[in-house]
Amino acid sequence: MKLYTIIIIALSLLLFSCSDVVSTDESISVEQNLNTDSLAIENKEIQNMELIDERDDHTLSNYDEVSSRHLHLDIEVKFDTKTIVGSVTHTIENLTGSDHVIFDTKALNISKVELNDGKEAQFKMGEVDELLGTPLVVSIDENTTKVTIYYETTEKTEALDWLIPSQTAGKEQPFMYTQGQSIFTRSWIPLQGTVALRITYSAKVKVPKNLMAVMSASNPVHKNDEGIYEFNMPQPIPCYLLALAVGDLEFAPIDQRTGVYTEPSMLASCVYELGDMGTMVNEAEKLYGAYQWERFDVIVLPPSFPFGGMENPRLTFATPTIIAGDRSLVSLIAHELAHSWSGNLVTNSSWNDFWLNEGFTVYFERRIMEAIYGKDYTDMLALLGYQDLLETLETATPDMQRLKLQLKSQHPDDGMTDIAYEKGYFFLRLLEEQVGRDNFDAFLMEYFDSHKFQTITTEKFLVYLNEKLIVPRNIDLNIEEWVYEPGLPENCPKVVSKNFNAVDANMVQFYETNDISKLIDTDKWSTHEWLHFIRNLKAETTVEQMTMLDDAFHFTQSGNSEIAAIWFQRSINIGYDKIDKELKAFLMKIGRRKFLMPLYTALAATPEGKEKAIAIFKEARPNYHYVSYNSINQLLGVNF
Ligand SMILES: [Zn+2]
Repeated sequence: MKLYTIIIIALSLLLFSCSDVVSTDESISVEQNLNTDSLAIENKEIQNMELIDERDDHTLSNYDEVSSRHLHLDIEVKFDTKTIVGSVTHTIENLTGSDHVIFDTKALNISKVELNDGKEAQFKMGEVDELLGTPLVVSIDENTTKVTIYYETTEKTEALDWLIPSQTAGKEQPFMYTQGQSIFTRSWIPLQGTVALRITYSAKVKVPKNLMAVMSASNPVHKNDEGIYEFNMPQPIPCYLLALAVGDLEFAPIDQRTGVYTEPSMLASCVYELGDMGTMVNEAEKLYGAYQWERFDVIVLPPSFPFGGMENPRLTFATPTIIAGDRSLVSLIAHELAHSWSGNLVTNSSWNDFWLNEGFTVYFERRIMEAIYGKDYTDMLALLGYQDLLETLETATPDMQRLKLQLKSQHPDDGMTDIAYEKGYFFLRLLEEQVGRDNFDAFLMEYFDSHKFQTITTEKFLVYLNEKLIVPRNIDLNIEEWVYEPGLPENCPKVVSKNFNAVDANMVQFYETNDISKLIDTDKWSTHEWLHFIRNLKAETTVEQMTMLDDAFHFTQSGNSEIAAIWFQRSINIGYDKIDKELKAFLMKIGRRKFLMPLYTALAATPEGKEKAIAIFKEARPNYHYVSYNSINQLLGVNF
């Protein structure tokens, strides 16, 4: 499809002179409904919005001239050389009669390119771009429908994490997994690395005989004797969702359509922890329509995985740090599941629109959590999210505080902040409060259905929102401020958590009396209450008070990664150094960037802390995925 431009005339956003804010559908009369179109057109203050499908800044491919529609991988995963070797065959559609197709590659060795039935093709590598990689330009003619590229990954391949046996739970077999989001897939497969395209894929993957391969596709449930696995992904996806993991894996079902893959020694605890997954899918469907991806399985990876979870379709990749023993951290699974609608089904059309993926997903995640665990529980999650957002707003530059970003020449990962997640969430929550939950749910259900398997820009979403929700209700809302301005608008919804209020009252008592026994009912506190408590420890808390708390509640030894991480962070801030041994062990083992960045940042706040941080990082670096160690290199100003 050609890039196209749609000019929307006299439609969009903002500012009706009408001052009534109508909050529920019931209060809208038929007459008002009939008048809204003319109201919209007449209103001089409505800005004309130019809807351009901007070209994706994060690809060097000519996807808008020649588009890859399907790819087939035929590869071998070689642990001895830590490389993937093989070929990818693209089925292409030549939209403009171009005589060449351009693919994105990064740090790949390309040995040969063939067209259609094996005819060798002319190709050349273009100029290297440090951020985006090296374009692979292949000559084609009007009859070319297939392009096969023979290639090999290198040690500079950013998507792959190769783990030696000691870095796994079982300690006997190696492990490898990929991380595609945001622009890493091109570093293990030559392809058109844009979110603007959706492709289907199939794959044949050879691995060592005692290991199993799984992908974001139809998956095996048993190892086979040959070590050869075949995959099919019939639903079109953006290429950042192409994913592969290889290891000593076993599968256990949770219900008919959900299940867990992980190393054998972790299987039982994972099955227990993720026992609500089937219910989550059912509740999600009740909210926003049928699950479109057939199965929803989760693979729990070794601890180096840089994210909490990655929403690879059919097979969410998850960190083992959610395995707390009490199901207290499973909102992460609700989050990845929600991506099956927002992100995977309706996808941001460039990384500038990332909030469309994440803000919607956080909103949906909290609705799933509310349906299963109730409102009090979800209020705690929302308030923790709000606190995260305030922290981010303190440090983010104004440009990075907008929902709609401009990331040209920047790594898309720079936009993966709480602005997209939490500011996005609170914007949607505001909309819900303005129009009423039933109306907002009906709107979202229709939004997902009418945009499924498509990409969408912020501007198109806003026009859709305006048309379906805002204009029909004559709502006066500062949407442009929310989307295009830095900071948090004054009408941000207020979250009150009665559970947290009780924690706060306890804290006041504790600080006033310096008496640990004033912390009452703590045996009833959930992980979230503890997180709130620790996060809000005052800066002037003394080392004696920290010792008192640690002796009573054993935070330093906590097996709950969220609690341990926030406790370590506050301890560093406050100067409580009895955590040092456990902090180092945590940083050596866990590769999840969400934990690493605040801890290294807290350490780096003083010269001696920074020295300590660099020493630990130097040692821990082999245990981190590129995504994590690249961020820490930048943070600490080193290059390990
Ligand atoms: Zn997400």
